[in-house]
Amino acid sequence: MKAKKSLGQNFLIDEKIIEQINDSIEATSNDLIIEIGPGMGALTKKLKQKNANLICYEIDTDLKIYLNALEDNKTKIIYKDILQSDIKEDIKNIIYDKLYIVGNLPYYITTPIIKYLINLNLLVNEMIFMVQDEVAERFSAKEATSSYGSITLYLNYYYKVEKLFKVSKHAFNPVPKVESAIIKFTKRVDKPHVNTDKYFKLINDAFKMKRKTLKNNLQNYDYEKIKEVLQKHNLDDNIRAEELSEDIFLDIYNSLFGD
Ligand code: SAM
Repeated sequence: MKAKKSLGQNFLIDEKIIEQINDSIEATSNDLIIEIGPGMGALTKKLKQKNANLICYEIDTDLKIYLNALEDNKTKIIYKDILQSDIKEDIKNIIYDKLYIVGNLPYYITTPIIKYLINLNLLVNEMIFMVQDEVAERFSAKEATSSYGSITLYLNYYYKVEKLFKVSKHAFNPVPKVESAIIKFTKRVDKPHVNTDKYFKLINDAFKMKRKTLKNNLQNYDYEKIKEVLQKHNLDDNIRAEELSEDIFLDIYNSLFGD
């Protein structure tokens, strides 16, 4: 079958990598795994060996010829756009302990998929995804690095995000233009207590203009309060948002909106 570029189809062909991804998912027979974009089933076949409940969302019905054979009483393929799916409804009758979401994601919608999953508010234990290496860097970046931005803080609010390993573009057919990486999201138990609308707006505003200082980007906020927080941490008034850790953003948030 000819891969459809428009659907981000780059199929994994490196058995070692498939094995490595499979090994990083700790699910057992009492758990539920949701796979996004099973493709021809390269990873699905391995996942099935865990004997967990497995639900896969694939948009392309042409792949039925590969995927039909993988369906059984614990494995179900749903031919649907993941972004239009009703996961809660689809899994409501399955009894399971832990929920894992995995996939070699279609890169044209990596961030929409992850945001969609976060907004569903499912009780997910871990998510393990193949993403573009550059995206993995952004998602797991530390402050004061060029990859750090508002998406880093947004994702790390919900999950501890770790880049597990890099994957060469030659592990795929067709060979994509970019290098890839496996990234792991582990549910945070110490999620800060904030009003998320206000907190994420503050972060988005802080990073609005990359070259501008925090002070310039946050002109609509009470800057005297922000300045006090910066002084407390011995930070310069001309600092940029990318220098600030989550702890400092939380301090700023509390000084602006806390009681
Ligand atoms: N898991 C397979 C593998 O590793 O070989 C295929 C991975 S391929 C990078 C991405 C897969 O996601 C393709 O099978 C593609 O058809 C599917 N896909 C693309 N957009 C999708 C969407 N909106 N919802 C569900 N699946 C989608």
